Amino acid sequence: SIVYLNGEFLRLADAKVSVLDRGFVFGDGIYEVVPVYKGVPFRMHQHIARLQRSLQSVRIHLEYTEAQWQALVEGVLARVDDSASNLMVYLQVTRGVAKRDHAFPAAVEPTVFCMASPFARPGKAQREEGLAAISVPDTRWLLCHIKSISLLGNVLAKQAAVDAGVDEVLQFREGYLTEGSSCNIWVVKNGVLMAPEANHLILEGIRYRFLAELARNAGIPFEARPVSAEEVNDADELMLTSATKEVLPIVRYNGNPVGTGKPGPVYALLRASYDRVIESL
Ligand code: PLP
Repeated sequence: SIVYLNGEFLRLADAKVSVLDRGFVFGDGIYEVVPVYKGVPFRMHQHIARLQRSLQSVRIHLEYTEAQWQALVEGVLARVDDSASNLMVYLQVTRGVAKRDHAFPAAVEPTVFCMASPFARPGKAQREEGLAAISVPDTRWLLCHIKSISLLGNVLAKQAAVDAGVDEVLQFREGYLTEGSSCNIWVVKNGVLMAPEANHLILEGIRYRFLAELARNAGIPFEARPVSAEEVNDADELMLTSATKEVLPIVRYNGNPVGTGKPGPVYALLRASYDRVIESL
């Protein structure tokens, strides 16, 4: 497959960066994942806005306009072999290549990388049977709102799920829910949809706002507020959202059924609304 690296379109096998790239040495960079349905990047404007915010937050200076990002992504999409499948576009920017020193190097060009890979929308089994999750302490840093490529905390969290034989983790900081290893978490109690506020302790997913919009349109009350571990234990429904998982129900939590142990009615409404939007693209 063809990828973009620093101004060129190359075969994946020919796309090489230096071992002194600060992404490799320090995890000094940011990224985005954009789902593409029928060739159309979904919520591209929001993804590019978040990318620009991440760059600003870590002070990587890259003067790409939204139109330039769009052209770059379209360049990659135009070169995809299997354009019939749904795709996910991965975009990464690192501070660039420099002698190893923590401080920002002077006058280096950021490394810009983009690739597209096929992605399968969640299937019948995941939608109808739901997922299992466990709770873990959130051991990550305090700038989780930046979509940083330094993902060791998230990697260790996800591996805790794999080791426990479940699909996902719910992370908690000082007794309050933050998010999953690579997804936002939603809690339903008495018909009210809740999620932790989008602050520095979570990555505000592009689907965070999207699901809140779908809830509003479906007449489901939504509250962005601190959600305690007790409230999660006591939830009627739990669900997660991310670019590739879209929205999926969590039906087992710490070994116990969530609510009835089956995907709930709020999930069913949101899932149907989500599908309608994607099918109308
Ligand atoms: N939280 C974290 C830590 C993530 O890595 C992600 C990305 O998948 C999300 C939340 C969800 O964000 P999005 O809906 O933009 O995929």
